[in-house]
Amino acid sequence: MNALASPANHAEDTLARAKPALHVLIAAPRGFCAGVDRAIHIVELALERWGAPVYVRHEIVHNRFVVDSLKDKGAIFVEELDEVPDGVPVIFSAHGVPKAVPAAAEARGLNYLDATCPLVSKVHRQAERLVDQGRHILFIGHQGHPEVIGTFGQVPAGAMTLIETLEDAQRVQPENPDNIGFLTQTTLSVDDTADMVAELQRRFPAIQGPRGDDICYATSNRQAAVKAMAPRCDLVLVIGATNSSNSQRLREVAEREGACAYLIQRASEIDWDWFDGVTTLGITAGASAPEVLVQELIAMVSDRFVVESENITTAVEEVVFKLPRALTA
Ligand code: SF4
Repeated sequence: MNALASPANHAEDTLARAKPALHVLIAAPRGFCAGVDRAIHIVELALERWGAPVYVRHEIVHNRFVVDSLKDKGAIFVEELDEVPDGVPVIFSAHGVPKAVPAAAEARGLNYLDATCPLVSKVHRQAERLVDQGRHILFIGHQGHPEVIGTFGQVPAGAMTLIETLEDAQRVQPENPDNIGFLTQTTLSVDDTADMVAELQRRFPAIQGPRGDDICYATSNRQAAVKAMAPRCDLVLVIGATNSSNSQRLREVAEREGACAYLIQRASEIDWDWFDGVTTLGITAGASAPEVLVQELIAMVSDRFVVESENITTAVEEVVFKLPRALTA
């Protein structure tokens, strides 16, 4: 021991020596996208403008921490419009809703705000256009996801067929293959979707659709950052909800790049056995996970390890979506 070292410094040195070293890579972009940011802001501004309670149909974004924070401010979350009493404002979630939902709200004279992400609304308009052209739509997405339910609800029943897997793309037999289109969910795996689109284009050369796919910038950027980061990691932790499609995809991308990967809602869900033999940890967060939960995770890891952190930045995002006029006028 250095004869000049203070007892306090000595205690810190001993503590540091007791902790193993851990290299922590932090992906960027990660966490909130512009659509999620806008949706949360809409609920907060509605609460400021009209006071509590403000009703929200479906989780505004797929994150329990966000939903609980908004509940604390006076938001009430329901699954269906008939749970909303007359005379109170209601907000539709970022995932989008079938056309029947705003129609029902209007019929009841409800004051409603649509927090559907503009990039999801864009897919809704593409669906309408394809149907107007008389085309049947092959929609690549996940059964039961609210975005898929919302997009199917933009067109008449039977106008779309869901394609969930490459096998679906290989087997689907549209009635009129020369008159079809395709669209995709915004939060899919970039690689899997490219394979499915390529298969549809190979089988149906006349198929119409977006250039590439409808996967949004945020989903693509977060997956690209994990692709760059994960090959260097033994373990990747993704902060996000299990019902968050883009978060699940981040975990899958990390696994495909050879890392062991887990999706957790909060740092408290960590099983420290996962860290056995781990020298490099990667961290990212889905588009609906707030940065505070990433920082909570880093703090908890830093309690157990001497952390040397490094940012892996593959893109810088500056996308901001406008708020509805009803909240800015
Ligand atoms: Fe919009 Fe993409 Fe965010 Fe979904 S993940 S809310 S589509 S920006």
